[in-house]
Amino acid sequence: MKSEIRQLALHLGFDVVGFTNAEDFGRWDFYRQWLEQGFAGSMGYLLKHRDLKRGPRELLPQCRSVVCVAQNYYAGSSPPPGDLEGWISRYAWGEDYHKEMKGRLLHLLRGIQEIGGSGTRGRVFVDTGPFLEREAAMRSGMGFIGKNSCLINQKFGSWLFLGEVLTNLPLEPDPPAVPRCGRCTRCLDACPTNAFVGPYLLDARRCISTLTIELRGPIPRDFRPLMGTHVFGCDICQEVCPWNRFARVTSHEAYHPRAGLQAPDLVELMGLDLEDYQKLFRKSPVKRAKLVGLRRNLAVALGNTGSPEAVPVLSLALDDPEPLVRGHAAWALGRIGGAAARQALKERLDKEGEAEVREEIVAAQRRLST
Ligand code: SF4
Ligand code: SF4
Repeated sequence: MKSEIRQLALHLGFDVVGFTNAEDFGRWDFYRQWLEQGFAGSMGYLLKHRDLKRGPRELLPQCRSVVCVAQNYYAGSSPPPGDLEGWISRYAWGEDYHKEMKGRLLHLLRGIQEIGGSGTRGRVFVDTGPFLEREAAMRSGMGFIGKNSCLINQKFGSWLFLGEVLTNLPLEPDPPAVPRCGRCTRCLDACPTNAFVGPYLLDARRCISTLTIELRGPIPRDFRPLMGTHVFGCDICQEVCPWNRFARVTSHEAYHPRAGLQAPDLVELMGLDLEDYQKLFRKSPVKRAKLVGLRRNLAVALGNTGSPEAVPVLSLALDDPEPLVRGHAAWALGRIGGAAARQALKERLDKEGEAEVREEIVAAQRRLST
């Protein structure tokens, strides 16, 4: 039964398959403490489902096995971004994987039900459900959790989307994976915002991924200069991981990069109106940041280029209807400096009504005068 299910999963386009039992997760306590220490930051919604993550039976009481699957999304190496080019996390270069994976997982569940016969029950999850996916994946032997807290497969590296089918079928578990980081600390050393409190322990409040994707309000000023030109996600702690030398280019076309997303032109993106934005990011994970969040991130990235070529588009952004964008554009102009930036800030201050934006403008002007 198990080999039939494995064959079916591979046939459906999953690249890695593993099986584990329905026992509670050994690392749930670690996860609970991580939440309690506030490391989830703006992802406060995680607290709501904390107890459901204790183990598979919280989600399917009659669960006896978990079929874990993964899809490779590595789209090849990318040249370093040019002066006014930004970075979008690799997982968001193509289609949104939630939809792509969910369809396949539902097919897999139907197949499992046919194989298991009547009475076979199941549920599928892909990232959005309250499930400790990496924990299940490690226990199923698909890969080990690295010090960068990603799941690392010895054949594909860490560029993997994970999904699961929970079922009441009793299936022989695969042996769990063993940690293989050894003495390496490359990911911990490379993080530009020092987001790792220690190995395996991420303070998401400091992580560029959280700051650019999940955070809805202003990005704390101290972090902005450290963010470089990342406009959606980061990937640095994966790019430096030696296990990713083994990554191979995905065969899934849905994850191949869309034109303009691999090294996005920051000025062009900042100039997008709502219609262009919706067209470019249709079915893309980037939409999670919303247009306002993306423009906030773009303002920071443009400021970090230090390029006078960014001043015209940032000056226009000072008139953005969203105070969040105006405030970050002011910060960016203060970072770039020069006569044109000063003038734009002065003109905006004269007409700005929002206290928070005024405060950003004054702080930017103060920085320029020191
Ligand atoms: S994604 Fe970037 S900011 Fe976040 S932990 Fe990794 S290197 Fe640090
Ligand atoms: S960079 Fe090194 S320490 Fe970090 S996850 Fe990879 S192997 Fe582990």
